Amino acid sequence: MSPDVGIVGGSAAGLFTAHLLSRAGKRVRLLECAEDLEPKPRTLIVTDFLNEVLGGIGKPAIVNQIRHFELFTDGRKATITLRRPDLVIERTKLIRELAAAAQNSGAEVVLGRRFVSLGQKKGRLTLNVERCPDGSAEELHVDTVVGADGARSRVAQAAGWPAQKTVPLVQATVRLPQDMNPDTTRVWFIPDDTPYFYWLIPDSPNRGVVGLIGEDGQRTRQSLDRFLEKHELDPLEYQAARIPVYSKWIPVQRRLGSSDVYLVGDAAGHVKVTTVGGIVTGFRGAHGVVEAILNGRPGRRLNALRRELGLHWFIRTLLFNFTQAHYSHLVDLLSVRARHDLEIYTRDEPAQMLWRLCLHQPRFLLVALRAFLTGGPSPRGLETEKLGSISS
Ligand SMILES: Cc1cc2nc3c(=O)[nH]c(=O)nc-3n(C[C@H](O)[C@H](O)[C@H](O)COP(=O)(O)OP(=O)(O)OC[C@H]3O[C@@H](n4cnc5c(N)ncnc54)[C@H](O)[C@@H]3O)c2cc1C
Repeated sequence: MSPDVGIVGGSAAGLFTAHLLSRAGKRVRLLECAEDLEPKPRTLIVTDFLNEVLGGIGKPAIVNQIRHFELFTDGRKATITLRRPDLVIERTKLIRELAAAAQNSGAEVVLGRRFVSLGQKKGRLTLNVERCPDGSAEELHVDTVVGADGARSRVAQAAGWPAQKTVPLVQATVRLPQDMNPDTTRVWFIPDDTPYFYWLIPDSPNRGVVGLIGEDGQRTRQSLDRFLEKHELDPLEYQAARIPVYSKWIPVQRRLGSSDVYLVGDAAGHVKVTTVGGIVTGFRGAHGVVEAILNGRPGRRLNALRRELGLHWFIRTLLFNFTQAHYSHLVDLLSVRARHDLEIYTRDEPAQMLWRLCLHQPRFLLVALRAFLTGGPSPRGLETEKLGSISS
């Protein structure tokens, strides 16, 4: 029997979507261009919200837990102790777990198939596919297509979505410095190098990843190498890719003839633009898209995700104008109650965190407002969301 839904992309978002749809009774075929489910290693940090969205799948992929964050700016340091530890996960293990869940729910995962283009035949969508080993052509006929094929989604392009803006993310695995505790992540704010931040995330008692998000690929790698040298850290291997920069909500569904095309994960741009984390938001988007496919219309999950991504965009627009002095001022302003808020609320609860912080330390708002008013225009791609849409 031909499947109801064809999913392109067998990574985090695609496999989870396949699992949810198959569990709900849809016949699903997932096409992945790689010939095995062994993507390159990638160390990821997520909040414990992961367990909630995945409903317990993926626990074996957790390789470490983070209980403290140390924030550094211009010689100052602040420590935040998390009430609910962050989770460090290894992507390869997560993918294997998700693939097993999808297959156990009944999804057919087909490797070595590259999606090439979309067509329409007899009221259904046709996926034109290339078999990777020999380059021969195949067709798959379905009612619904889900593009889970990453930041440069070919499905999105074929269905007429505009290309997304992306930024480079580069990290290097290193041996942990002697003075570093494996339950602590370090974050450095150095706006001359990056409007985001540097991090050092331990993934085991003696290793971790140091990285940053930049704006230009070559400069980002040079900044990382300078940073490693300054901190006397030797890179063991590099992990890098481009990540979408969320600037406004793009509807995740398009109608082609009488069929639907949806996007999930990085293909849909479901990435928190404050930290450029896309794992938890990608899974939340998958829940939302599955709800839309099953009910025939987008529901509250996608609306909630939209509000949150908009809030992250709002915070990021303020942070883009921060100088070193602004960050230092923020760290100085971390009162006991403000620190407490950062300890309780995670970056997957931005509304609660922001509201509490402003309540307990209103001067944060003043610093942010001053940076916003005195700073230059936001970088390209971040100016498009209207402030009004955050509350919509
Ligand atoms: C170095 C690095 C570190 C990161 N750290 C974090 C972190 O700490 N926390 C966090 O939350 N996020 C992090 N991210 C972001 C996170 O990894 C991504 O948001 C997430 O992996 C996106 O998953 P996805 O399934 O949407 O897309 P992808 O992982 O990009 O998967 C797309 C899949 O589609 C397949 N594909 C592509 N084109 C085709 C085609 N034409 N036909 C068939 N298959 C196709 C690809 O082979 C791939 O398997 C990091 C990213 C990088 C690069």
